[in-house]
Amino acid sequence: MCCKTMSVWEINKPNGVWCRHVENYRRCAIYDTRPNSCRSFDCLWLRGVGTEAMRPDKSRVVMVEAQDGDNPDGPKGFAAVLDPTRPLAWQEPAMRAFLENIRDRFGAIGMALGSRKRVFRAGQPLQTP
Ligand code: SF4
Repeated sequence: MCCKTMSVWEINKPNGVWCRHVENYRRCAIYDTRPNSCRSFDCLWLRGVGTEAMRPDKSRVVMVEAQDGDNPDGPKGFAAVLDPTRPLAWQEPAMRAFLENIRDRFGAIGMALGSRKRVFRAGQPLQTP
């Protein structure tokens, strides 16, 4: 799912579309020579955050560390990057509760859908960007 939702500047891949190097929606055809952005990327799920159902290819939500655009010098926060094909998948009750918990616990959460991004502060209702 990260090969669809995330941008990769080295290969001019925009966010929200499948990378041209994905094979069968499962595998990177240039894995051994993939860009550094791909090599260094770990979504939060790969770091142990979230349940099995929140695995990005199942939930259609990629949770990432992200900088708050309103506070570029502040600490990194968290963002949910949504699959444009399933932009409402984050509203599944367990996922919604998980995102709301992050929002309230850390003071804010970002949500991104393609190039559309929004930051929601603690207590603010989440919406698809
Ligand atoms: S280069 Fe490979 S790892 Fe990187 S986005 Fe494309 S398919 Fe995914």
